[in-house]
Amino acid sequence: MPATLSFLGAAGEVTGSCFLIDTGAIRFLIDCGMFQGGREAEHKNRASFGFDARDIAFVLLSHAHIDHSGLLPRLCAQGFKGPVYATGATVDLCEVMLPDSAFIQEREAQQHALERRRARGKASYERAPLYTVAQAQACLKLMRRVEYDVEIEPHPGIRARLRHAGHILGSAIVEVRLPGKAGHRLVFSGDLGQPGHPIVQDAAEVREADTLLVESTYGNRCHKSMAETLDELTAAIKTTLEHKRGNVIIPAFAVGRTQDIVFLLAELWRSGRLPALDIYVDSPMALAATTVTMRHAQLFDEQARATLRWLSEDHPGFRVHFVQEVEDSIALNARREGAIIISASGMCDAGRIKHHLRHNLPRPECAVIIVGFQAAGSLGRRLVDRASAVRIFGEPVPVRSDIYTIGGLSAHADQAALLGWLQAFRRGPKQVYLVHGEIAAAEALRREIAERLGWQPRIARKDDGIRLA
Ligand SMILES: [Zn+2]
Repeated sequence: MPATLSFLGAAGEVTGSCFLIDTGAIRFLIDCGMFQGGREAEHKNRASFGFDARDIAFVLLSHAHIDHSGLLPRLCAQGFKGPVYATGATVDLCEVMLPDSAFIQEREAQQHALERRRARGKASYERAPLYTVAQAQACLKLMRRVEYDVEIEPHPGIRARLRHAGHILGSAIVEVRLPGKAGHRLVFSGDLGQPGHPIVQDAAEVREADTLLVESTYGNRCHKSMAETLDELTAAIKTTLEHKRGNVIIPAFAVGRTQDIVFLLAELWRSGRLPALDIYVDSPMALAATTVTMRHAQLFDEQARATLRWLSEDHPGFRVHFVQEVEDSIALNARREGAIIISASGMCDAGRIKHHLRHNLPRPECAVIIVGFQAAGSLGRRLVDRASAVRIFGEPVPVRSDIYTIGGLSAHADQAALLGWLQAFRRGPKQVYLVHGEIAAAEALRREIAERLGWQPRIARKDDGIRLA
């Protein structure tokens, strides 16, 4: 019986990355990500996996982002006992992120109960968190560190290798060689970064695959050049801080994006383009994630190493404060001007960013700078789509601040970069599936690949199975 692969998530959408491979003898997963953005995502996260977690032999994890790793604690809670293979940096980041994700789940469950009680004025039903901090901790014990580019054998006859993906610290392309004479080669691009992305090295070139799964987040878009992007960022910050005298709010994943932004701001400030900066990184896990990042400086590119050295010195005029305590975060609400607040979550659906948005969105002198992808249904997406008011904690909040969307800072490769990465293949893979993209983006990339490379890629559909033969 030939091996099969089922698309359990990140098919026709960008979140919930999870692929089930069944070799006939064993089953394993690539990624076990959480769905994010809106109510529907919540249902999907709580739905049955569609397989028995106890049957999964191992997991290959592409990177630490929650939409790739976020359901691992749930998998473990349901009886998965096998190892989870990931790069050392990914394991370190997961040690920060998964308990934090669980903490947010626990707190949102409490918040939810509180809102229901308020709305109904009577006892409400309690909703259990998706998973608990204790379950996340238990799951971390299953993680195994793998070096980049070193082949491992997670199960007799199955070989796997993680390659640089250029997306966030520790991010990887996953290569798998299945058992059998032909040794079917399965390659999952993971999330690919734009070449020249801050901090990390560029994605490795892959030359061969029988089956290729490639991300398509920005399959229909070309980012502005880095130079233009930095001009936009500089202008937005100067306008807000110097001329309008407000605050700048930057929603950002605490892991990856936040460090990218701090490094970029440091580089812009060093080149004399920005006024004195008072930067507040307000996410309980951002400090931990930044510490992890600094520990892996050997994975940095050249420029990032220089910036790291500069950051380790004292510079009046460029101050970065890591906000840990809740009281200090609340104190920021009273700040009327002059602050750059970088806070999570990146799509504005959870965490402290919601408080900062509630206080700053109604003020025309303030600005929100969107620097990452905003999934359909998320609060961040409604801001990008220019909603005149949004709901935060169940209450309407008018949007009077400036909203800047700076696409060029995305952690994802654009159409040109995706095509560039695909061009490195020696010949067209037998089958190519586009994953991790909304339909319009995947469709645009499909057409472009067919036209430029002469391949016939298909768009992955959720719960569909394909043969790996
Ligand atoms: Zn990612």
